[in-house]
Amino acid sequence: MLASLQKELEQRKVDGLLRQRRLLDSPQAEHIVANNKPYLSFCSNDYLGLANHPTLIAAMQQAAGDAGVGSGASGLVTGHHRYHDDLEKQLAKFVNLPATLLFSTGYMANIGVLGALAGRGDAIFADKLNHACLNDGSYYSLAEFNRFAHNDVIALENLLKASTAKHKLIAVDAVFSMDGDIAPIPEYLALCEKYDAYLYMDDAHGFGVLGEHGKGSLSHFNLKSPRIIMMATLGKAAGVAGAFVAGEQVVIDYLIQKAKSYVYSTPAPPALSATLAASVKLIEQGDDLRANLNSLIAYLKDNLKLKLWHLLPSDTPIQPLIVGGNKEALALSEYLQTCGILVPVIRPPTVPVGTARLRISLSAAHTLEDVKKLVVAIHQAESVL
Ligand SMILES: *Cc1c(COP(=O)(O)O)cnc(C)c1O
Repeated sequence: MLASLQKELEQRKVDGLLRQRRLLDSPQAEHIVANNKPYLSFCSNDYLGLANHPTLIAAMQQAAGDAGVGSGASGLVTGHHRYHDDLEKQLAKFVNLPATLLFSTGYMANIGVLGALAGRGDAIFADKLNHACLNDGSYYSLAEFNRFAHNDVIALENLLKASTAKHKLIAVDAVFSMDGDIAPIPEYLALCEKYDAYLYMDDAHGFGVLGEHGKGSLSHFNLKSPRIIMMATLGKAAGVAGAFVAGEQVVIDYLIQKAKSYVYSTPAPPALSATLAASVKLIEQGDDLRANLNSLIAYLKDNLKLKLWHLLPSDTPIQPLIVGGNKEALALSEYLQTCGILVPVIRPPTVPVGTARLRISLSAAHTLEDVKKLVVAIHQAESVL
């Protein structure tokens, strides 16, 4: 087995697909130290610049003093601390849904929810560009797994029309993590009503960024329905770690019994929940942060004028620059690195073959000067490479 693993790794290297970790020696921020060098970074999902926020650092230090550092037992034994419970209630109020349940990560939330809500005889309908963990959750559920072309409402309707499944669940990213575009959520909800289906919406990249006071994609579209179950991660715009699922009380009560990644797992430390309580307040008060972020997005889109490469249409902080070939995308990323700028290169299988890209992610913590520097460097790269 070891020899075959080695062979596969070597092949990846030949194909320009070998992934390597950078060693971060600073807090996550827009200016970081990685592999012992300082960089201007467009890599993180810390869209509001909260991952290193002094208010949150102080909240975590204080909460660790109050509640210790470990949860010690699963939530159904003695691991459900008042800090967890307070955060669940605060999040429900914030996203305007009846109840929520915390998970340790978004990956665990998607596996737990899909595994609990769908099973043999049910069907899941999934966008082809969904995040990997929605796919894993779908496989794990043993429900029939139907994928439709990206954002294709008509293709989805045809699948729903033909389905004889007992329960039908549409599972989609609200904001696509590698493309930055927003799913047609209102159309999906209309299909849920027409075909008696439910919508499971992963708002990892909308929460904190979109909607009134950063309440996320449901607020962005002004939607409310008992047919909606949403998930948002708390390690992206919220700057900390974890995830929550929100929906009708009966859904949350059911998940507490049946979502295995909740039932059989130790909750994240209560101090993280206390930190997140402070983070949600900063998100809610962060209209100025989102205004700055949106002006940086507009600046990038207006000023990047390229011949070989192009930005995908996106109004979110995820701005993918499509390069095409794996090696070309890697060369661009390496060129930017020599200019002191880090932008991650995303290659297949994460994205379709021939669409290797640089995933530029902007943060409210960037300044206009930072984005200008990036724009200049990409233009230089195009003339040099
Ligand atoms: C990051 C991400 C997840 C996973 O969340 P983690 O908390 O990092 O495990 C799930 N869905 C989407 C769309 C994501 O981008």
